[in-house]
Formats: sequence, structure tokens, C-alpha cells
Amino acid sequence: MKNKNNYNYLLADLTKLNGVGKKTMQILKKKKVNNIFDLLWRLPKSFTDRTLVSKISDLQIGKSHTIKVIPLKYQFPRVRNLPNRVNCIDETGKINCVFFNSHEGYIRKILPLNQEVTINGKISAFKGVYQVTNPTYISQDSSLVESIDNKYSLTEGITEKTYNKIIKQILLNLPILNEWHDKDTLKLFNNESWNGSIIKLHDPTNIDNYKSNFYKRLAYDEILASFLVNSEIRKKIKKIKKTSKNFTKKAQNQITSKLKFNLTNDQKKSLEEINDDLNSKSKMFRLLQGDVGSGKTIVSLISALNVINSGFQVALMAPTEILARQHFESAKKIFPKNISIELLSSKSKNSNKKKILKDLENKNIDMIFATHSIFQKKIIFKKLGYIIIDEQHKFGVRQRKLLSDKGGDNCDVLLMSATPIPRTLTMSVYGDMDVSIIKEKPNNRKEVKTYSKLEGKIDDVIKFVKKEIKEGNQIFWVCPLIEESKKLDHQSSVNKYKFLSKLFPNDVALLHGKIDNEEKEKILNKFLNKEYSILVSTTIIEVGIDFPNANVIIIENANKFGLSQLHQLRGRVGRGSKQASCILMFKSNLSANAKKRINILKNSNDGFEISEEDMKLRGFGDLLGFKQSGMKYFKLADPIQNEDLFLLAEKQIKKIEIENININKYKALLKLYDQADIINDII
Ligand code: ADP
Ligand code: MG
Repeated sequence: MKNKNNYNYLLADLTKLNGVGKKTMQILKKKKVNNIFDLLWRLPKSFTDRTLVSKISDLQIGKSHTIKVIPLKYQFPRVRNLPNRVNCIDETGKINCVFFNSHEGYIRKILPLNQEVTINGKISAFKGVYQVTNPTYISQDSSLVESIDNKYSLTEGITEKTYNKIIKQILLNLPILNEWHDKDTLKLFNNESWNGSIIKLHDPTNIDNYKSNFYKRLAYDEILASFLVNSEIRKKIKKIKKTSKNFTKKAQNQITSKLKFNLTNDQKKSLEEINDDLNSKSKMFRLLQGDVGSGKTIVSLISALNVINSGFQVALMAPTEILARQHFESAKKIFPKNISIELLSSKSKNSNKKKILKDLENKNIDMIFATHSIFQKKIIFKKLGYIIIDEQHKFGVRQRKLLSDKGGDNCDVLLMSATPIPRTLTMSVYGDMDVSIIKEKPNNRKEVKTYSKLEGKIDDVIKFVKKEIKEGNQIFWVCPLIEESKKLDHQSSVNKYKFLSKLFPNDVALLHGKIDNEEKEKILNKFLNKEYSILVSTTIIEVGIDFPNANVIIIENANKFGLSQLHQLRGRVGRGSKQASCILMFKSNLSANAKKRINILKNSNDGFEISEEDMKLRGFGDLLGFKQSGMKYFKLADPIQNEDLFLLAEKQIKKIEIENININKYKALLKLYDQADIINDII
């Protein structure tokens, strides 16, 4: 008998299945398969290999791709030990299939000339042309799939036979769930039901059908589930009643009239949105998103002053002490003298710290600047009304929810992030918050000139650096990620430091991961005070810090970075009025794909645009910070291939919000796709 509408079967422990004992369960648990539902997404290997077909122009070296190509020419050398080659093309480029130890006959059979074939394999390059060595032949025609038996990739410690048996068992007992989509939506997927789609997903004869309705329906399910959870969290936070903050525009106008610049329109608009939230009777939970250097700090400080004037205290948290100090100094400059602000630093004397804590408790301090570590500490505020968190894209939805709860009902929350993300991802990454965006850059900004240079031309770069130093400018020298190894990164920065120190004695400082925080701050402070002209560092120079004198950044082995990352690094310079430059250095000539990427960077200074392009070229998993962002990885949905489904889900969420649709009908969807505790809070 089928389990009618019983999603609990899917959430059941694996030992509920016949043939799964403790041992098998443990093997599966290690692979993050905790229940029956999780097993459904372990797809036949042939399916995962073939789902996404790439164009040659989009290939990424070192990754596995499936491509449809036309073989044009055989090269079967008569010399022993030389590999056989087949030159292939698609409409976007060339690729060579290389075969070691394969007979000509076999190659002729699987790659007949002038007929389209689908192959899969790891991509490399040889003399500037892509190649794939011993590719896996997939098909000339999907009806020729050799074996009908599903082959699953998850067989380590479990035989394929057992695994197939388990999956068959699940598919037989698959519950028929009540449909959660409305009729119109369902029609878009040709009325494919959830469980019907799951069965098709595991049917090997459907292997090439990732564009088919059942596949899209399942992809849409998980997109909608992820958006819906976030939207419900947002609604829940918005329902929290608070004492509204009452203030006049007087203080705000005083500050802005004293600034050396006018706020940009986007800054003004964001400030208005924040002020409206502060004034309202519901709790604010807002993200201020803006590219590096777009001027988020001033917006947050003005809003902080408004909150202080309404009688509340404010806490600003930054990821590093040096950044907290920089914000503190900025506030000191612009706040009226009667406002009492303090910096809580790990370096403050204990007696001083004690006094600060006491003053916070007595409300003798209006605003405190600190690092995120004050979250953990038991700090008592007399009347905390506003938390500002700078540069924190690494918090996931759940951490943010905790954060919002922590401040208490009366506490508004503003997060700031300089990580632009592609539009399709906004709802999954930030859907739990209201978002204000600063797109426009202050108009005094000169664009950073971006150049690419081969490593062999380092003499030219040194000449350029000498000239810049003579003019009183400072230089960041970012050492590459040579390998995925911290040790080697460290070594390369030390070597570069030694090399540059010989050329520029006593004028070079070095920062790397092994230097402790206190020392790091000292070095950064010295660099800020212009005691050194060059700062050599591994990868990330502290986010957010304003170095007004630095206007050259040199990034070695630049092809190791994503575009968004390069853009963020480039944003470290060009804050002042002088012309700034970014020099991207490369080890060897660039591939066509790499050239494309670099050109995007040279031609655009818009972080949002760059993040879109970056996603298209590298996939969304590699975007800066996403690995830590807490963003869920999708099982089937792909933000690039399924952009339409993401937009559809966004529309549906708006509809649910506006028409106040009861989300109980999505209960099974949410319970299955988002198994975290947070769901129990929502439904
Ligand atoms: P981010 O958005 O990256 O945090 P900051 O807030 O640190 O950027 O601002 C970078 C620099 O731009 C600061 O020196 C700030 O004083 C300046 N700035 C902010 N807004 C404007 C503006 N409207 N016009 C000119 N300069 C501005
Ligand atoms: Mg900032």
C-alpha cells in the first residue's frame, strides 16, 4: 500500500529500509545522507555526468564537463607512445580528444567524423587548445544507452546491487504527496506531480532530459522551498513589534551640511529606507548592499545618530579591530560633541574595559564600536536600540536569525555587505532581509585603470612602482595562491618580500596568515601612516579598510582569482583623488576564456555586473564568500541554466506575500527540502 500523503516516510531513518543495517547507514551518513529523502538525490552516475552540457567557450580547465562536439579529423601518429588525437569542434570553439592506449578502430567507432557526439571528461589545455584525455564516450544518440541498469556513483562500501535495490524499494513506496503548486504553475511543467517526477528522475531512459518538465518541476520545487523559508523568516521578524524611534532630521542635516561631499542619490535613498524602518513600529532587519567604496559607512553612522537622538544606544560591529577603529574615528569626526562614543578593543587596559562595560550598563555611552566578538560576551546595555554589522557576508540565514533574536524586540538590525551577487541569487542568499542597494559610486571616483602583464615583464612593473612611490603613493602587492596550500602561499609572499626589500630597502612590509592579529594591526597601522610604501600580502587585504594613499594594487597569478574577488581587491585602491591602477600579473599567455574574463574586469567597474559574468563563467559555487555564506547548494537547480525558474519563484513569493496566502499547503515541501529546526518555528 502506498503511503498516501505521508512525507514522514521520506524523513525516516535509513534503517527503516529493508537491507539497510547499521553499517550501511553509517557509510551513508558519512556522505550526508541522513534519511530516505536525501537518498533520492543520489542520482544515477550517468545522469549527473550528462545533465549539464557545456559549450567549448565556457569550459573551465581542471573541471569535468560534458560537451557535444563534432569530430573533424583524426591524427593517428605512426610513432609509438604518441597519443592518438581527434580534432573536434562545436559552434564556439575547438577541442582535441586525446587517447592513450586506445585502438584506432575503437576511436573511429565512438567518434565518427562529422557526426555530433556527446562526451565527458576532465578538461585540460595543450599549446593553447582545450583537450580532454581519454574522454568518456556518452552517446551519439541517447537511445543507444548501453545498459538499462542504473549506475549510481555512491557505491563506496556499498555494492551497486544493494544500492539499486534500496532505490527501487524507495521508489515503490514513494508517498503520493498532495500537490503544493497551484494549477497554473503546475501547467508550466505539464502537470508533472512530485512523485511522478522523482520516478522519472531515476529512470535511466530519461537520462538526457534535464530540460524536461519533470526535471524542471523538481528544480523549481527546491528553489521555491528555499525562497519560501527566507520569506517566512522575514515576515516573522517584521511582525515583531517595537517602540518606534522618534527623531527629527535636524541632526542628520547638520552632519550632511558639514561633509566635504554630497551624498549620492542611492545613499540618500538608502538612508530614507533605513529611517522609515527605524520610525516604524516593526523591527528592522535590513541589508545595506553596496559595492566597495560606495559609501555605506556614512549612511550607517547617520542612521546611528538618529537612533541615539531618539534615546537609544547603538552597537557597531566590524570584522576586525582596525576596521572598528576606523569607523570609530570617522564617527568622532562627524558626531556632535555631546554624543558619547567608545571603542572596545582587545588591547584596551582591563580597568578601561571595565569602565566601558559599566558605562554601557548605565547608558553613559551612546554608541560602542567593537569587533563581532562582543556577541559572545555578556555585555549589558541599558537601552540597546540598534545593531550595525559591517562587512558580514559570511553569516548565513540561520546565524542572522539568531543575531536578530539576540538584540531583543526593540533592537533594529542593519547588516552591510560589499559583496554584490547576481540577481537570481538575491532571494536565496538575502531573502530573509529587506535590502537597500547603493549602486551609484561617489562621483569624485576615478575609475581604476586595469592592466594585465606577463610575469616576465616584472621589470616594467618595478619601474612603474618606483615612479608611483616617488609621487608619494603606496602600493599593495598581493601574492598568489600558488596551490591550495597555505604553506606555499606563505613561502611565496616571503620570497616576494625579500625580492622587493632589496629593491626598496626599509620601505616594504609583509603580511601573511602566520602573523598574529596584534602584529597584523601594527603593520596595517604603519602602512596607513605611510611608514612603508609597499605592503606585500597573501590574498585578502582586510576588507573595508580605507587606505586613502594606496593607489596601486598588483595581483600576481591573477587567473587564480574569481572576477568578483579581483574586483574586491581592486576596490582597495582608488579612494583618493589620484588616478589609481590595478596590475594583474599572469604566468603565461591567457586562454581565450581567461582573456574574456579579464576584459570584463577591464571594461566594468560595476560589482553587480561583474558578479553576473563571474557566475556565468565560473559557476555560482565559486563566487566570493559563497562557500561560507551559508547559502544552500541546490540539488538540481542551477542559477544560470534555470534563471527562468528563479524568476518564477520570486514572482510566486511576491504573490504569497501580497495575497497573504496560507503557506500550510507548502508544509510538505518545506519539511522535506529544509529540514532545519527553523521550519518548526514557521509552520
Ligand atoms: P564602503 O561602502 O566600501 O564601506 P566607505 O563607507 O568606506 O565605503 O567609503 C569610502 C570612502 O568614500 C570614504 O572615505 C568616505 O568618506 C567616502 N565617501 C562616502 N560617500 C561619499 C560621497 N557621496 N562622495 C564622496 N566620497 C564619499
Ligand atoms: Mg565598508
